[in-house]
Amino acid sequence: MHTSLTEEARVQYRVHPPAFLDGKAKLLLIDGKLVPSVSGKTFKTYNPSTGKVLAEVAEAGREDIDRAVAAARRAFEEGPWSRFKPFDRQAVLLRLADLVEKHFDELCLIDTLDMGGPIARTSAARRRGVALLRYYAGLATATHGHTIDNSVDGDIFSYTLKEPVGVVAAINPWNGPLGLAIWKIAPVLATGCTMVLKPAEQAPLSPLRLGELCLEAGVPAGVVNIVTGFGEAGAALSAHPGVDKIAFTGSTEVGQHIVRASAGNMKRVSVELGGKSPNIVFADADLDQAVPGAAMAVFNNSGQICSAGTRLFVQRSIHDEFVQRVAAFAKTLRVGDPLDPQTQLGPLVSDTQLERVTGYLASGKAEGAQALSGGQRITEGALADGYFVAPTIFANVTDSMAIAREEIFGPVISAMPFDSIEEVIRRGNDTPYGLGAGVWTRDIGNAQRVSRGLRTGSVWVNCYQAMDPAVPFGGYKMSGYGRESGTEHMEEYLQTKAVWVKNPPEKR
Ligand code: NAD
Repeated sequence: MHTSLTEEARVQYRVHPPAFLDGKAKLLLIDGKLVPSVSGKTFKTYNPSTGKVLAEVAEAGREDIDRAVAAARRAFEEGPWSRFKPFDRQAVLLRLADLVEKHFDELCLIDTLDMGGPIARTSAARRRGVALLRYYAGLATATHGHTIDNSVDGDIFSYTLKEPVGVVAAINPWNGPLGLAIWKIAPVLATGCTMVLKPAEQAPLSPLRLGELCLEAGVPAGVVNIVTGFGEAGAALSAHPGVDKIAFTGSTEVGQHIVRASAGNMKRVSVELGGKSPNIVFADADLDQAVPGAAMAVFNNSGQICSAGTRLFVQRSIHDEFVQRVAAFAKTLRVGDPLDPQTQLGPLVSDTQLERVTGYLASGKAEGAQALSGGQRITEGALADGYFVAPTIFANVTDSMAIAREEIFGPVISAMPFDSIEEVIRRGNDTPYGLGAGVWTRDIGNAQRVSRGLRTGSVWVNCYQAMDPAVPFGGYKMSGYGRESGTEHMEEYLQTKAVWVKNPPEKR
C-alpha cells in the first residue's frame, strides 16, 4: 500500500520544523568552533522523498582536514582533555546522553528529512542512541590493565596499562546518520581519544547537530571535530600522518582503499563493511513469526542495512507457501512519505541509490528471477518525485545470479529453496561477505549447528538484527574486521602497554 503524507504530519512539520534547518549553510566543527571550509565551497543535501534541496553544507577539502587533525592532535596531547580522569569522561558522556534524549525529536526529524528513514523508525532509535552513550559512560570508569605474574628471574613485576590510541578518523555511511555517529563518538570519549568524524555526504545534518550537543555537554574544543564532504575528504583523512586510527563503516570497496591508505603510518584500523547475509527458514519454524521476520530483515530502512538478510533460504517443503506469504506481507507494507507516522518504508537515500537498486531489479528479471511482489520503482501520485522502490521478493533465484551474490542495499529479497542443513550451511557461506545471518527453527540442534557453521559476525535465531550496546557487532571475511559495541569495542581504541618494574636491591 502506498501512502502520501497525512495532514497531521504535514501540520506537525510545518509548525515545528527543526530549528537547525534555518536556511543558513551548515558549517564544519573544528576546534570547538563552527567554521566555513577554507575554500568557501559548499554542497547540497537533498530530501530523498521529494528530491528537493534541504540544506547547503560546507565542503571540507584537504586544508580543512589538516586543520581538524591538528586540532584533534592538540586536544589529545596538550588540551584539558588529556587531564580528564575516567570519571570526568563519564560525566561528559552522561551529559551528552541527556542532551541527545532531550533533543531526540529534533534529531530524528533531521534524519528523516535528510536520509528518508520513516519517522516511526528514526524516532524508535531514541532508546538505542541514549543507551549507547550511557553504556560507554559506564565503560569509561571500568577499563583497566592487569597485573601479570611473570617467570623472569629476580624481583621483577609486570603490569599493563590501557592507553588511548590517539587521534581517530571516523568515516561513516549514510544509512543511519545519527546512530552511526553516536557509535563512533561514544568509544572515543570513553577511552580519552580525540577524533575527526566525516559523515556521509548524502546525510550529514544530524551528525553536525550532534557535534553542537557535544560542545554543550562540555566536550572540550578539538576533541570531537566534524568535517562534512565527499570521498576525497575521507581519503585525505585516512591517509593523514597525524591520524592514529581509522574507524570506517561503509562499502567493502572503499574499505579496501582505507586499509591501503592506512599503511603509510601503520594506523590501527577497524572496518565495518558490506554484506549479503543468509536468512535460513526451516520447515519446523513458527511461520507466523518467520514470515514478517524474514520480510523485515530486508525491508527495514528500505533494505539500506548492512546486515539485511537478503539471501532467503527456505526449506523446500515450505518454500512455495513461505515465499507467497512473504510477498503477501510485502504488499501490506505502507510505503510513503517518511514524515507520516504510519509509513513503514520510506524512499532510498538518493537518485544514485535508486539507479543502483532498479538496475538490480532489471538484472534479476533478465536472469530469470520472478518478482512475487514489487519489482519496480513507485512512479505514481505523490511519491513520483521521490526515490521510492516497492518491497520486492524474487523467486526462481539461483546462487549464481547477481541479485543473489551482490549487495543491493535496497528492499529486495532473493529467495531460494534448500534441502539439507549441510547444504544450506555451505551455500550460506558461499559469499565473500560474513556479516549477519538468521535461522528460524524450533529445533535447538539445527539452530546451534547453523550458528556454528556460518562464518558471520552475528547470528540471530528466531529474530533478526537484534542489537545492544553490550553485544559486539562486526564482520568476518570481506565484511571487515574489528568489533563495535561491547568491551571489544573499547579495545579497538586502546593501546596496551607492558610495564616492567625491577625492585632495586635493599639499601645497606
Ligand atoms: P561508501 O563506502 O560509499 O561511503 C562511506 C563513507 O566513505 C562516506 O562518508 C564516503 O564519503 C567515504 N568515502 C568514499 N570514498 C572514500 C575514500 N576513497 N576514502 C575514504 N573515505 C571515502 O558507503 P555508503 O554508500 O555511504 O554506505 C553503504 C555501505 O555501507 C554498504 O556497503 C553497507 O553495507 C555499508 N555499511 C556497513 C555497516 C556495518 O556495520 N558493517 C553499517 C552500515 C553500512
